[in-house]
Amino acid sequence: MRKTNKKKVIICGITGQDGSYLAELLLKKNYEVHGIVRRSSNDNFIRINHLLNRITLHFGDVLDSLSLLKIISEVKPDEVYNLAAQSQVYIGFDIPEYTSNVTGLGALRLLECIKLVNKNIKYFQAVSSEIFGDTKDCPQNESTQLNPKNPYGISKMYAYQMTKSYRDSYNMFACNGILYNHESPRRSENFVTRKITKAIAKIIAKEQNELFLGNIDDKRDWGYAKDYVEAMYLMLQQDKPDDYIISTGEIHSVRDFLDVAFKLVNLDWHKYVKINQNLVRPLDHRNVIFQGDNSKAKKNLNWKPKTSFNELVKLMVESDLKEKGINL
Ligand code: NAP
Ligand code: GDP
Repeated sequence: MRKTNKKKVIICGITGQDGSYLAELLLKKNYEVHGIVRRSSNDNFIRINHLLNRITLHFGDVLDSLSLLKIISEVKPDEVYNLAAQSQVYIGFDIPEYTSNVTGLGALRLLECIKLVNKNIKYFQAVSSEIFGDTKDCPQNESTQLNPKNPYGISKMYAYQMTKSYRDSYNMFACNGILYNHESPRRSENFVTRKITKAIAKIIAKEQNELFLGNIDDKRDWGYAKDYVEAMYLMLQQDKPDDYIISTGEIHSVRDFLDVAFKLVNLDWHKYVKINQNLVRPLDHRNVIFQGDNSKAKKNLNWKPKTSFNELVKLMVESDLKEKGINL
């Protein structure tokens, strides 16, 4: 292992959207960056290919405690960020046991390894607005009652409560970021925003002329991933560990996203978008609006989202067009 005076960090989930942006941020802040990757991640380095000569990767898995214990013991990090998850809500219905194991128990395994190796290692846990599930409160804040309804949300609630429990029981510096949806050109195409921007690029390139979607009236509090990883970092730089809602506080429907995105390329989305009932999620008919009150993060972390909804849509459309060699 290299010896440096730099702060050392382990990012679990470094190949994902947030992991790649967090790695970039922490490299800029002069951290020695280590990432945990799975054997299968080998085919999935697309978001971190440009960083490979500046970071150290370790094979491991949040399903495998020994691998985590070995990596944490060897690296001796100052901070660990747990971004690893089976991160898709609707896939959680098909593989609930696996989702609970990775997204829920994965957090416990990391916390327990940190407790065993060095309780002073700071820990960040990514959780989700899905922990509020069927809430009637809107907007939600850090005191809103937890009421998750699906395997992903329930697993995140487990991770959230475990993080609090290790903080309270063992005096560990462990924080939860209650993250609302955040997107970017690195968002997986399974999510609706990237599905739309990718489709626009294909429509312009004449590779596609239809876009099948589910419930386009559903609303989300959508932010920019690059802004959100700054909040994660700030949480671990405070005097005291705590939990924070990270959101924009603004909601928009999928329809709004279509309006802004298609307008950028002067197309009328009504001509391309078709509703496929198989893509309409049954639980989306509940009367819940995930809208986060980010006042605590604004006050204590001095954090606020820098990128507006329209700017986010633009940078995603622009990036997908660029991949096809087209300028906006
Ligand atoms: P993402 O792109 O899906 O990344 C997930 C990461 O987890 C990938 O690096 C993946 O590695 C890794 N991973 C999955 N299973 C693993 C395992 N068994 N062991 C080790 N690593 C594993 O997710 P994201 O959008 O960056 O989100 C980051 C975190 O924030 C996640 O925990 C997510 O649930 C949470 N969150 C995200 C949002 C959002 O809107 N983006 C909102 C709320 C909460 P592979 O490359 O090997 O698959
Ligand atoms: P989620 O909030 O983590 O589930 O993020 P998604 O991007 O997957 O979904 C956001 C919203 O878009 C949900 O209410 C979906 O029902 C809605 N939506 C509508 N059509 C689609 C689609 O074709 N794919 C996805 N992923 N979501 C869709």
